[in-house]
Amino acid sequence: MSNLRIGIGGIWHESNSFCERGVAPDDFVLRGRMAIGKDVIDKSDRQDEIAGFVEVLRKNSDVEIIPLLSAETWISGHLTADTVGFLEGILCQQLRSAGRLDGICFAPHGAMAGTTIADVDGHFLNVFREELGGRVPIVLALDCHAVVTRQMIELSTALVGSRTHPHVDVVETGMRAAKILLDTLSGKIKPVVVCHKIPILVPPPDDGTNSGALKELFDKFIAWDQIKGVISGSLCPCYAWQDVPEQGWAAVAVTDNDPELAQRLARELAQACWEARCRLLPETMYPPREAIRRAAAVDGCPVVITDSADTVGGGAPGDNTVLLEALLASRHDVDGLVLIHLPDPEAVSIVQKHLVGDTVTVRVGGKRDTMYCVPLTVTAQVLCITEGPITNDGKFIAEPMAETGGIVCLGIDNLRLVLTDCEIMGPQPSLYRKAGIEPFEAKIVTLKTGVGFKVTYGHVAKAVFRADCPGVVSYNLPRYKFSHVPRPMFPLDADAQWHLPICQRAAKGR
Ligand SMILES: [Zn+2]
Repeated sequence: MSNLRIGIGGIWHESNSFCERGVAPDDFVLRGRMAIGKDVIDKSDRQDEIAGFVEVLRKNSDVEIIPLLSAETWISGHLTADTVGFLEGILCQQLRSAGRLDGICFAPHGAMAGTTIADVDGHFLNVFREELGGRVPIVLALDCHAVVTRQMIELSTALVGSRTHPHVDVVETGMRAAKILLDTLSGKIKPVVVCHKIPILVPPPDDGTNSGALKELFDKFIAWDQIKGVISGSLCPCYAWQDVPEQGWAAVAVTDNDPELAQRLARELAQACWEARCRLLPETMYPPREAIRRAAAVDGCPVVITDSADTVGGGAPGDNTVLLEALLASRHDVDGLVLIHLPDPEAVSIVQKHLVGDTVTVRVGGKRDTMYCVPLTVTAQVLCITEGPITNDGKFIAEPMAETGGIVCLGIDNLRLVLTDCEIMGPQPSLYRKAGIEPFEAKIVTLKTGVGFKVTYGHVAKAVFRADCPGVVSYNLPRYKFSHVPRPMFPLDADAQWHLPICQRAAKGR
């Protein structure tokens, strides 16, 4: 007979304020992954925080796991009011039918924003509190890119963030949260949480938490594990492409009933982040034609140019034409092949009506990204008509193959424009090989991503240049008109001054 009934679940979405497309219920139901009730763990090929909850809770014979809801969908715009209501309805229904619950382990992303509610994660926490009351412990396992809010601190018992980027420790993050919940329920610990917000807004570095200033900062709080009285430390360097009132980094310390220790550690970490701010800025970006000029001047091949603003994995459409326009204008200055890929099913179907060797005139790109570019009309020779899938070189998804739909390759002098039916996640040299081109022998390979090229091109690239193109996930954050983020915010306000507040609210164990 189980004594403790623990509800588990999670809702995952990273909401980009500069992406036009709102998130509809079907983005979770049809295009994402959604499970209700026992399906949350029955359909469990999962390798996420929920898997971590289950792993820890199952080992305790006193615990009955009550799976509530898990919902996730890929990064895009803000959740519509309908979508928030839809998810809230399911969550309420599950909580009401669950019977008594003694505790909750929940995995919100932490950077979920709505068109009418800025802090959707905090809103769902309110739903928990309304249904369960104020005393049931709730422990959160967050993505470290969470935009931590006052509601998240006040309405949870404790929260922990992932400690790696790329996030290779999400299962462990769930396990840590579940242990905190069990220790709280058994009376072994009384979590006290202190969170200091830090006015920094920068894109994630290429190498994530593996090197550089971000690694130093993550190492700092991970070392707290050795301090007596510390339950957990987290640093949340937020999701930068979100224009919300509580934007910014967060240093979070959770101690066992020791507010002074939590306060001191969170302050020290926040101060260290602020002092490191200039070392956290992204690498130099060049206007597209300047990036091409620099790439053309490098000895050998290939040279990589990244268009990070159009990163498909970051919520961008991938069909922005600004870099293509620059390549078309500069192609004669490049000695060797120049490669670019755009997803464009409309153009693919037009080209598929032709034969290899034909000349076609077709409008390409700028059909999904209607905010930051326009379609371009090109006249080109059809060089290849084929179809996917392709091998998944980019490792951005777990599957061995990546779906592309139809693939066509157009030649415009030394420019090779590859078009596909589908968006493609991450840099995939296999795409060009499928189209009959060896990308490592091309002079310039352009990538519609700001990350992942170290795995795929790092060992061969003679140089990498970042093109500063407009788009949904530009690394040049001052490009955007932020209306809601608190100011000053570094580097939007380059000479921002900031001093730690003397005391920030400590949420005492519920
Ligand atoms: Zn993340």
